[in-house]
Amino acid sequence: MSDQVESKIWVFVEQRRHVVAEVGLELLGKARSLAEPLQWKVAAVLVGHELDALAEMVLSFGVDEALVADDALLEHYCNQAYVKAVEGAIRQYEPQALLLGATAMGTDFAPRLAARLRTGLSAHCIDLDLTPDGQLLSLVPGWGGNVMARISCPKTRPQVATVLPGVFPVPEPGRARGRMVSLNPQLQPEDLGYRVVETKREEAPKSGLETAEVVVAGGWGVGSKADWTRVEELAAALNGAVGATRPPVDEGWAEEKQMIGQSGRTVRPRLYIGLGISGHMHHLVGVKSSELSVAINSDPKAAIFEHCHVGLVGDLKEIVPPLVEAIKQYSQQEPG
Ligand SMILES: Cc1cc2nc3c(=O)[nH]c(=O)nc-3n(C[C@H](O)[C@H](O)[C@H](O)COP(=O)(O)OP(=O)(O)OC[C@H]3O[C@@H](n4cnc5c(N)ncnc54)[C@H](O)[C@@H]3O)c2cc1C
Repeated sequence: MSDQVESKIWVFVEQRRHVVAEVGLELLGKARSLAEPLQWKVAAVLVGHELDALAEMVLSFGVDEALVADDALLEHYCNQAYVKAVEGAIRQYEPQALLLGATAMGTDFAPRLAARLRTGLSAHCIDLDLTPDGQLLSLVPGWGGNVMARISCPKTRPQVATVLPGVFPVPEPGRARGRMVSLNPQLQPEDLGYRVVETKREEAPKSGLETAEVVVAGGWGVGSKADWTRVEELAAALNGAVGATRPPVDEGWAEEKQMIGQSGRTVRPRLYIGLGISGHMHHLVGVKSSELSVAINSDPKAAIFEHCHVGLVGDLKEIVPPLVEAIKQYSQQEPG
């Protein structure tokens, strides 16, 4: 390792086949806003092979340093090799915090790395804060979303956190001002532990949810597969996409790809309508960026009413059919 690295917050920007996971960019934006009051520098960490173009790209997101572990042996993700490539640099440059996306790769890589470094890890965070003395505070939902824990790691460094994709916006790129630093991973084939013989790509099923301007999501309160048509009719009337909480997916009323929340998709519609949804944090993290959120629930004490802009207390079976009719009539009216 040649150059001195100054950044105190490092963000692992995951890439596969030279395509970065968006959560890495989201975390770069968050890291910059956390670091600013302490005047800390922020680094993006890239691991893989032939990464020059990606290093240029991450620098355009305003980071001070792009730390690049580039080696042919890192072309495919391998947890042992990735840990070896980054662990030495962390020991040498002693960053205060390391942020990663809570993706399949991040949730595999982060705990191995934290264990090797004998430091703490907060997993599946939905928010981050930094105290004036540099303590990372990670917000993590627990116990079915009924408890929100704020976790810190006071004794060891770096403070490692994996963060759910979609909770922070992707910052706007601009003019690159940072510099690239090579981490010279110096790996041997035996560092891999296993060899990737072949990779096959399976297209992730598209749900249209991520880009929909209107999302109508149904929950357990919808009642049955037959009643699920109410969710679909309201979504169709508004030209929107259909989403679901976990119970309708488990029951087979909706498809897995329609699940919204911590284990499902993150949506950012202009309008979100939740039907028969209680408001567990596991679901709400996936809809918190909705511009306008409306909830219909028969229980006036449902938690979702504390998180939506407009709440209607009542039986969705009575509210939804006339609502669909009214929307259809309104849409058929001549403009003016
Ligand atoms: C690790 C983990 C990850 C998870 N990930 C996710 C995730 O990604 N997404 C997700 O959604 N869940 C997830 N869950 C499950 C989550 O904790 C909740 O159990 C789930 O979100 C609850 O779904 P719900 O609101 O539809 O059902 P419920 O909590 O059962 O709520 C049903 C609501 O419907 C209302 N209702 C009933 N009848 C009517 C009616 N006729 N009209 C109007 N309202 C009515 C009720 O008052 C009630 O509030 C996860 C859980 C765990 C442990």
